[in-house]
Amino acid sequence: MRYSKLFIPTMREIPSGINAISHILMLKAGYVRQLAAGLFIFLPLGWRVLNKINTILKEEMERIGAQEISMPILHPAEIWQQTGRWYTIKEEMFRLKDRTGRDMCLGMTHEEIMAWIASKEIKSYRQLPQIWYQIQTKLRDEARPRGGVLRTREFIMKDSYSFDVDWEGLDRSYNLHAEAYHRIFTRCGLKYYQVESDPGVMGDMESHEFMAPTPAGEDDIVLCDKCGYAANIEVAKSQFPTLSPLNLEYKEVYTPQKKSVKEVAEFLGLDEKYFIKSLLVISEKNEPVLVMIRGDQELNEKKLARIIGEFRFATAEEALDIVGVEIGFIGPTEHKIKKIADLSIQKGISYISGANKKDYHLQGIIPEKHFDAQWTDIRKVKEKDNCPKCGNPLKIEKAIEVGNIFKLGTKYTEPLNAYFLDKDGKEKPIIMGSYGIGPARVAAAAIEQNHDADGIIWPKSIAPFDIEIIPLNMADEKTIRIAEDLYEKVTEIYNSFADRHMEVLIDDRDERPGVKFKDADLIGIPIQVIIGEKVLKENKIEIKKRRTKESKKVPINKAVVEIVNSYYETY
Ligand code: ATP
Ligand code: MG
Repeated sequence: MRYSKLFIPTMREIPSGINAISHILMLKAGYVRQLAAGLFIFLPLGWRVLNKINTILKEEMERIGAQEISMPILHPAEIWQQTGRWYTIKEEMFRLKDRTGRDMCLGMTHEEIMAWIASKEIKSYRQLPQIWYQIQTKLRDEARPRGGVLRTREFIMKDSYSFDVDWEGLDRSYNLHAEAYHRIFTRCGLKYYQVESDPGVMGDMESHEFMAPTPAGEDDIVLCDKCGYAANIEVAKSQFPTLSPLNLEYKEVYTPQKKSVKEVAEFLGLDEKYFIKSLLVISEKNEPVLVMIRGDQELNEKKLARIIGEFRFATAEEALDIVGVEIGFIGPTEHKIKKIADLSIQKGISYISGANKKDYHLQGIIPEKHFDAQWTDIRKVKEKDNCPKCGNPLKIEKAIEVGNIFKLGTKYTEPLNAYFLDKDGKEKPIIMGSYGIGPARVAAAAIEQNHDADGIIWPKSIAPFDIEIIPLNMADEKTIRIAEDLYEKVTEIYNSFADRHMEVLIDDRDERPGVKFKDADLIGIPIQVIIGEKVLKENKIEIKKRRTKESKKVPINKAVVEIVNSYYETY
């Protein structure tokens, strides 16, 4: 394609308040423009990248036997009411009414509609297993659209769904997807991890996320370099740090005005790990719950929410009302409210906590002797905690979720009546799985991981073009002749890496060399072929790799082969 004809509106000045590097570079290099909060227009270069990713998605989905279909984005409310998600999903769902007043919504995802069509059409085990997928628009009224196309309110998703006769079948479909995802993200040139994840609104079985590490990520992932343990911090575990016992006499101690663990620990000259933080929360069912965490540890709110549902911290008034003492002096003894304690609070060791009396703490509290609780893991993993599998110190990295895989079981098929007749004539619910990837996020994550001060460095598999030819002086006939000749010849070559012909951009604009170089580095095409008069005098042209900035001069008569070789060498 000719640069002079392509719409690539590069930008010098970026509006303030834009922080993610992928967002800045996609705007600067003319890949996208924002229409409104969380709504983006993909311009020609941006759309080419998205299509490259979509092609990889399609190839890898077809390779595991998935079949592409297309479903409406507008859904009748009843189907979502049947699974209950019409009620449990709140503002994130776009809802509307049709002209007859019927409730409708815009599809955030398609488990319901997939299970619905399965319920209508799948009658016998002979029709199973099935994997259906689509690459299609989803709408979500996200609370905080951010980072350009990283989190938008309208986005494309590759979503696939598996339907099996039993749990072993689901395991197979799940593993097929995991393998496909490894191939997809590897082909897209991403650095990524497969991590254990919180199934959230999707279900409550096994699920994994594919996470691209980058400082722009919204998620924290916990990793073990030694055994490969990898989990989202929302579900990550670690071995609890053990304590050597401390012999404290069981008695109240006067701690005037000292409320936080830190303050009391300093006041008494004791380590924070010998304290029990007693946090009063109000559960989804409006029940008070006393949550206990060791003084040197932090509560993982997601883990707690999986036990008691969505919760909030009690207000000062509620605390006075429920336990009769101010926040800061609450402890686990005496009162009868429900208690949940983290496993790091070891039995047989004595601790200090609030005495349920203003300005007093109680020392020598021994779990199970002085209070009882539901013991479970509600602790947030910290950097250097020990790996739950091998004991090695863990590390924590920021990452962006680019894809995920969920085992759903019968969560959607039962309420939507998706049953089939098994071999033995018994009626059984279909066992389902669901699997998503956001191609725009993949593109943005690729930029987050591959850029320098001058612009984007596309992994070659998803670059909008493979090669950019840059004739420097458009007034020089020889320059133009050589550039056009190479443009034609390289375009003819079959790109076996991508299973298509080479895609070549020629910068035929009448611009200064400085402008062309700057734009070429900004838009990030893997190979630049520079044709300048000075080098032409030696009967040579120059080939530059965008990633490494290595450049070499090659004789004109070897140019085509050298260009193609350089393309294959780069990544
Ligand atoms: P997140 O936790 O980031 O909100 P999610 O768990 O809601 O993601 P899914 O519903 O499982 O994501 O969607 C599957 C994939 O779709 C995600 O892995 C991501 O790549 C992409 N995706 C999800 N929400 C958005 C969004 N608002 N904008 C762009 N892509 C998205
Ligand atoms: Mg989400």
